[in-house]
Amino acid sequence: MRRVVVVVLDGMRRDQIGVAHTPGLVRFADRAQTFAEHRSMFPSATRVVSASFATGCVPARHELQGNALALLEGGRLVPHDAGHPEFLQHKRRVTGRALAVPTLAERLAGSGGMVLFSNVSPGAAYAHDPDGFGHIYHRAGSYAPGRKRLQSPHALAISQDAEGEQLMTQRFIREALIERSPPLAILWLGEPDATQHLQPLGSPRQLHALAQADTNAARVVTAVEEMRARGHDVLLIICSDHGHQSVSRVVDIEAELIAAGLKDSRESADVVTPTSGTATLIYVDASCADRIAAIGAFLASRDWVDRVIGPDQLAAVGQAARYGLTFAISLKSDDEPNAFGIRGRSVEARPAAGKADHLGCGQHGGLARYEQMPFLMIEGAGFEPGTVTKTPTSPIDLAPTILAHLAQPGTGMDGRPLQAGRAP
Ligand SMILES: [Zn+2]
Repeated sequence: MRRVVVVVLDGMRRDQIGVAHTPGLVRFADRAQTFAEHRSMFPSATRVVSASFATGCVPARHELQGNALALLEGGRLVPHDAGHPEFLQHKRRVTGRALAVPTLAERLAGSGGMVLFSNVSPGAAYAHDPDGFGHIYHRAGSYAPGRKRLQSPHALAISQDAEGEQLMTQRFIREALIERSPPLAILWLGEPDATQHLQPLGSPRQLHALAQADTNAARVVTAVEEMRARGHDVLLIICSDHGHQSVSRVVDIEAELIAAGLKDSRESADVVTPTSGTATLIYVDASCADRIAAIGAFLASRDWVDRVIGPDQLAAVGQAARYGLTFAISLKSDDEPNAFGIRGRSVEARPAAGKADHLGCGQHGGLARYEQMPFLMIEGAGFEPGTVTKTPTSPIDLAPTILAHLAQPGTGMDGRPLQAGRAP
């Protein structure tokens, strides 16, 4: 039987893969095809990548525009944290749909389905299947098809730490790979991302998190060998969703716009700036269209901005000037090393009220070099062991690749299958 197994090491920078801390990934590279120019989405943030992974489409099409975003509710721009467990259910009530294009879970519902185990934010986990076609296991709530909530002992009751990651990996191997073997089984580890947001890149605790994630991935590689010995034709994809930059400075974009007279107050809905870390989306209410030129000029003049993406350029980064979205900015970055010698620093937008910033630690979201440096390795039919491919790839290519292996139609997606002879 054809099967696809995916392991995501959230936030793993490909330049941190090496024998010292990730020996399992180094061994896997010998037998897999490596995609050396793999990029993230924009924003390079887990919820955005999750929806792009699940749909094979860019944010302009699936509509999960950022880790935080605004919805037009009764004609008013309302900011939301897309990591909230209820966000996509709320979006369906407001806009008529959770995601605007079908997920892998929906496409595979009639042919054995999808099982996902995830230890990232609830919103990112549920972005794989907001309409309840497959099985989703997450510490904030686990669901069977029909969004039937699973109870103990079937629910995934783990913590967001090393022990939780290991327990989740063990359950994934036992239940998803050995007992059930669905067409698509995904293990989305929370590490090293969770530790990188709290510890400097290259610090002993961050390097330890790399090693833990590597060990969990290696356990899955071993389990996949056993699946193959039982006769399954398995495509094994191991990757990350984005890299990280070190935060060199924190900027309060909302306060800057208010001080410049371009936003009325913290509470006003005229201009709304939900942040995805080192990138921010800027929504402008239709009644304030006369401010757009001044906002663009102001942003372009700031020393905390690398790139202002205006209404005419949003499509080039996979976004669309719709629902009030008018600008996106990727915050200032450089190639300087941090105290541990890890290169790449960025300015972080001040997180929403009540959330800690990440000064000196890792963050992502923008278009800077290292946050756009996730890794991708694929082993199985159509991939050449031990080779390195420099064709640019991104998360939207994974759903078409998965469906191609499962001999399922992959129509209507923005990405393309990566199997030899299939890619353009
Ligand atoms: Zn992530």
